[in-house]
Parts: sequence; C-alpha cells; structure tokens
Amino acid sequence: MLRSYLARPTKAKGKNKMKCYIHQEIDSVGICKSCQKAVCISCAIDTGKGIACSKECENDVYDLNAIIDKSKRIYSIGTSSKLPPTGIIMYFIFTLLFISWGIYNSMNRERIDYFTLLMGAGFLVITIMAYVRNKKLNLNC
Ligand SMILES: [Zn+2]
Ligand SMILES: [Zn+2]
Repeated sequence: MLRSYLARPTKAKGKNKMKCYIHQEIDSVGICKSCQKAVCISCAIDTGKGIACSKECENDVYDLNAIIDKSKRIYSIGTSSKLPPTGIIMYFIFTLLFISWGIYNSMNRERIDYFTLLMGAGFLVITIMAYVRNKKLNLNC
C-alpha cells in the first residue's frame, strides 16, 4: 500500500502534464477551446478568452465566445425578468391607470394622493426597465 503510494508521484508527473499535439516532446500550456487539443506556447493562439490551436480554431473560438456571451446575456435577462413583451403593455396600462387614478383622487380630495401616484411611478419604472431589457434582447438576436 505504502510502496504503491510512493511509486505514484513520478508516474503521475508525466501523466498530469499533457504534451502539445504537434510537438510531442513539449509540455502543453493549454487546451484549444474549439477542438480540445493540447497546445504548447508556440502553437497556442490567445483569443483573449481561451486558447486556439490553429487559425481555423481561432475563428471557432471567437464564434464560441460570441455565442456564450449572447446566451449569458439572454440568460441574465431571463432570470431577472420572465416577462413576455405583452407584460410590458400590461405594466404600461397599470402605469396609466394608477397615475390617472392618482390625479383623479388628488383633484377630488383636493390633496395629492401620494400612494396611488407612487404606485403609478413604480409601474412606470418597471415598464421602462422591461422595455429597455426587451429592446436589448432584440438588438442582440
Ligand atoms: Zn483546435
Ligand atoms: Zn506545439
């Protein structure tokens, strides 16, 4: 048990470090993000977000990064707002309702109905936020 434990480190050393797929004798510095091949420092092309092994893979990695970025953006929009575009119209109607109701109450009671107007303002903010998010999503697709 102890012997096999002691014997392992020297073996594991060579195993852990992958060699470049072109230069079998040189240790790799990373793995191509597109084709998953190990590459050495002279073969690796740094795309800024991951390593590519060739010009073709470099383009693939850029595409991949663009897709990841896009899906990230869509995902973040999806989690913060699950509203379909009709939700924006709904909120806009609520905004108009609360504000007109607030103004109506204010005029009727001859004092400002802060609560209703504030509700309207709140809905206005939600409407704008939902609209901006939706517009961003459409632009990126
Ligand atoms: Zn590659
Ligand atoms: Zn190499």
